[in-house]
Amino acid sequence: MRAHLLRRVVALLVGIGLFYAPLALLPRLLVLATGSPLIADTHRICLRMPFEWALQPWMYRTMVEQPGYLIAPLLLPVLALVTGPLLCGWLCPAGALTELLGRLVPDRLKLSVGGRLDPTPVRLGVLAGMMLSPWLGGYVCCTFCNFTMMQNLVSAAFGDLTGLVAWSSFGIVTFVVWFFALGLLVEGGRGWCNLLCPAGAVIGLASALGARVGLAPRIRIDHEACVGCGTCTTRCPAWAISTEPEVNPAACNLCRDCLFLCPEGAIRQVRTRRTGRAPDRGRRPVDEQARVSGAARQLAEPPQSAPGRPEWRSQLPTPGTAGRPILALPRCGLGE
Ligand code: SF4
Ligand code: SF4
Ligand code: SF4
Repeated sequence: MRAHLLRRVVALLVGIGLFYAPLALLPRLLVLATGSPLIADTHRICLRMPFEWALQPWMYRTMVEQPGYLIAPLLLPVLALVTGPLLCGWLCPAGALTELLGRLVPDRLKLSVGGRLDPTPVRLGVLAGMMLSPWLGGYVCCTFCNFTMMQNLVSAAFGDLTGLVAWSSFGIVTFVVWFFALGLLVEGGRGWCNLLCPAGAVIGLASALGARVGLAPRIRIDHEACVGCGTCTTRCPAWAISTEPEVNPAACNLCRDCLFLCPEGAIRQVRTRRTGRAPDRGRRPVDEQARVSGAARQLAEPPQSAPGRPEWRSQLPTPGTAGRPILALPRCGLGE
């Protein structure tokens, strides 16, 4: 599990180098290729405003003149169709930062959401609202943007405080919502991604479509091996696993955490059409640390005795487990 966490931290650093100034390798490449006089930072490959512009034909010329703006509406969905949500699960620092830092915050301080809310309709509604807003006289500008907030933080870390000192009151509200209210203080640490990110909504839809036709990888749960402990439901950063448990491919960001967290090794990543059963390749090796940690906690924490843990978590319904004793939540979290 620690090796997996380390890989994700490395991916976060790679993402910062690729997307954010001062390195901003991708924007720099585009700026060089197009001869643009603009600064190479994350705004040159904005992953948000082009979705709003998609319903504003008067913005098309700007998008063609600055081809970085075409990445979000054109390239991202096509890539996701084949690779799945690679950007969201691994490379996007705006999503990973709050998720990874959130692991340092005690669970009792966090709002519990996993398994209680399907985030996909909310995120799609936000995307639709954003696209329609200019026609209704509104404008969801860069101040309401987690990518901007992330760029400000990265720039500040490298000594450029311009973004921070120029914050408006609305920018401060956005930061508090992204970083704290929907970040560190909510289960999974990715509330902004799960509810408010238009890029995530489009990537999620394309990934789900790709998974349905067998192009993109997807997460599958073996219900015969599952014992209904609920760990995956409560620990999934994308709130993509229901209480059954079933994975929502439009919400899953393919971070693969659940593969390591499941104490029974019941979760696998497959690439197969949705209509067929996954080929039985045998049980994947169980992460021994997760199993030992989970078993130890089950022995140490009888159901309903875990302080600060709501009772529902130890009573998640699972098909085929009627009449079996319900296990306490192992809470085999990252780094445990
Ligand atoms: S949902 Fe948006 S902010 Fe979150 S990881 Fe994906 S692209 Fe980044
Ligand atoms: S279902 Fe698994 S792979 Fe998908 S986001 Fe949740 S923890 Fe990550
Ligand atoms: S983590 Fe628990 S509920 Fe989720 S698949 Fe594994 S055994 Fe089942």
